[in-house]
Amino acid sequence: AAKSSGRDRVHLFSPSLREAARWRLEVATKLRGDAIDQLVVHYQPVVRLDTGQIEGVEALVRWQHPERGLLSPDTFLSVAEETGQIIPITRWLLRETTRRAAEWAADGMALRMSVNVSARHFSAETLVRDVRVALQQSGLPADQLVLELTETSVAEDPTRAEDQLAVLRRFGVRVAIDDFGTGWSSLAQLFSLPIGTLKIDRSLIAAAERVSVGDTGAVLAAIVGLTRTLGIRSVAEGIETPEHLRLVREAGCDLAQGWLLGHPMPADRLREWVREVQRQGGDLCAMAVSGG
Ligand code: C2E
Ligand code: MG
Ligand code: MG
Ligand code: MG
Repeated sequence: AAKSSGRDRVHLFSPSLREAARWRLEVATKLRGDAIDQLVVHYQPVVRLDTGQIEGVEALVRWQHPERGLLSPDTFLSVAEETGQIIPITRWLLRETTRRAAEWAADGMALRMSVNVSARHFSAETLVRDVRVALQQSGLPADQLVLELTETSVAEDPTRAEDQLAVLRRFGVRVAIDDFGTGWSSLAQLFSLPIGTLKIDRSLIAAAERVSVGDTGAVLAAIVGLTRTLGIRSVAEGIETPEHLRLVREAGCDLAQGWLLGHPMPADRLREWVREVQRQGGDLCAMAVSGG
């Protein structure tokens, strides 16, 4: 054991790990300081597969770093989770995104707003209050807000998560399970939650490139069948090609999200983009296939 920990120590001081450690320290320090003012939200369209209409957007956070440029959430959210900074960040996101959705609705563009919530928020027990304050301050109807949770965030402390989600559900807030198919949680546990939507992880759609499309289609159709039995809706993530789109439509998914249908974009650009899509008839599925 001593030997192996000796070897581990060498790895610990390898340059790339030192870089990583330095980065973590920078993130932890900056997120406690003014970096929260440098966070920006991009919005990705969520599209109905029956009509091709945009039904809502998912809010995705980015860090506009003064030297390193626009950073993806993967580069800083795990540190924010560890330090607990994810809580004030999510609180800010809830305020920002509900305010934005209410402003769009007043302007004739009502879109359901999905926000990703971390497991840490359940253990901090402030989620209910944070959501409530955001809804009150923005005036957004509760049923226009969707909270996205991953299987793992729920599995960490299922009873605590269940209690808080039940309260939120009573307000009218919707709950979605994100990245379905990547975790190992018990289905019974998952489906005892008050969920309205299941988001099928993009790795399952991308699997069509590795295994035969027939296999992937059958797996997707089985998942969709499960959601129908439970009376919930399904969203296919990571639709990048017309082939992916065909696959998930055939499987009977209700909604889809992906680069083919629309990239995440800043609020102002999304506003313009939706106007342009509406000028062209509003059917994103048709536009995607015709290359428009
Ligand atoms: P997620 O919630 O599953 O979000 C979907 C991710 O897939 C986003 O990555 C999105 O940009 C990306 N994506 C969308 N369409 C496609 C596609 O067609 N192909 C591919 N390859 N990717 C696509 P992003 O923005 O980098 O976010 C990554 C993850 O970080 C999110 O996964 C979510 O778990 C987390 N995250 C993002 N924003 C927040 C946030 O505000 N709060 C929390 N707690 N987590 C967040
Ligand atoms: Mg999500
Ligand atoms: Mg996802
Ligand atoms: Mg994800």
